Amino acid sequence: MKRLFVVFAVIIVAFMTSPLTFAEGIMSDEIKFNNPDFLRGMDISSVVSLERSGVRFSDGGEEDVFKILSDRGVNCIRVRVWNDPFDGNKNGYGGGNCDVSTACEIGRRAAACGMRLFVDFHYSDFWADPAKQKPPKAWEGLSLEEKSQRLSDFTYNSLKEIKSSGADICMVQIGNETNNALCGESDWESISSLMNAGVSAVRRFDKSVLVSVHFTDPQRTETVKWLADTLDRYKVDYDVFAVSYYPYWHGSLENLTAVLNYAAVKYDKYALVAETSYANTLEDTDGHPNTVSKGSNDADMPWVFTVQGQADAVGAVMNAVNEVDNKKGLGMFYWEGAWISVGDDLSRNKALWESLGSGWATSYSGGYDADAGRFCGGSAVDNQAFFDAQGRALPSLDIFGMVVRSVTALDVNRDGRVNIRDATRIQKHIAGLTDLNSEELRAADVNGDKKVTVSDATDLQKKLCGILF
Ligand code: CA
Repeated sequence: MKRLFVVFAVIIVAFMTSPLTFAEGIMSDEIKFNNPDFLRGMDISSVVSLERSGVRFSDGGEEDVFKILSDRGVNCIRVRVWNDPFDGNKNGYGGGNCDVSTACEIGRRAAACGMRLFVDFHYSDFWADPAKQKPPKAWEGLSLEEKSQRLSDFTYNSLKEIKSSGADICMVQIGNETNNALCGESDWESISSLMNAGVSAVRRFDKSVLVSVHFTDPQRTETVKWLADTLDRYKVDYDVFAVSYYPYWHGSLENLTAVLNYAAVKYDKYALVAETSYANTLEDTDGHPNTVSKGSNDADMPWVFTVQGQADAVGAVMNAVNEVDNKKGLGMFYWEGAWISVGDDLSRNKALWESLGSGWATSYSGGYDADAGRFCGGSAVDNQAFFDAQGRALPSLDIFGMVVRSVTALDVNRDGRVNIRDATRIQKHIAGLTDLNSEELRAADVNGDKKVTVSDATDLQKKLCGILF
């Protein structure tokens, strides 16, 4: 009786499609990843403050943004951590007000959707980059030794707290874009000493967690090679050599691969792009000027500024990392792929950015970082998100899943073999007897029409019989 029911159910639903619908519209080549655990990651550090500001995300219907990202193929989330991004009256500096408790929420929600966490310590109270490496307020005036101890304690205690929230931490970044300085120190003896204080805290926390260092300006090939040599000279103990790669400023993909190769081959390190992004339009939606707009950073790019162009850029950057020698290409993280407008009225947006920290900086940040306070405002990257101004997922988001079709195709039950069990699993799914997760659904789309129907099961059976190739 049960079997008969299954047969009828298969017939009834044969012309229906599964609940999964792939967004239409982008094309992509598959990437045969040399490292099967390649990280297809995204930084969404601002997302909690965006949600508090009223932003909602959808993909068909309204959904948790973490589930949307996981369903589309993102497998790791990066989050920045500032020590204390608040003034004396608890007013946030902005940029998501990303302190340890924010990282806990982001890590917990990522894990609930099957995604791991990459923790990015800035060791500052606000944005750290090559021009700004200011120590936290509480560490001002400390000796190097005292500061190293505080940095070590902060690293260890923060990781413990983030893990206890339920996060699945796989990698930790010691400082952000530390080309010239770290936490107020600018000579390499001090920088490396601070770095090793952070590294040993991570090792003490969990030996299986990878430790990353992070630089920018990979187009300065010799400088970045010098940085890798300097880390070696000062015996910095790390696993991953990471760079930012923004195509507008950071040179060719060939040079990116070459720079990463240097650390991978000469020093046997993993190579990573910790930040990248690409605009899908030159329009702005939140009233705060965008970094990439008409006449600004839009010249001579290899990809057009469309949704397809955004997907092409991301696929190409992933491929450039994948091409690093010795299977050392570890992955790519897209930077702030959900940082969209909080509304459609500039004066209301400004009020939300200021009160909830959902823009890049608030006026309150001025007491710590004068420039940020003076030029405070919203998102300069809303045209580089994978969501439109209403929070709807763009087809370009599919790139994270499309590039791995070659790895996952056909092996529906993920047991490493392709056989009749996979066809049976598709049939059971169609009959409503079992649910396939997003990765299984991608594998089940045998004929590549972006739907899972009975014809996928039939095609797989034909392939197994050698009828269809
Ligand atoms: Ca904007």
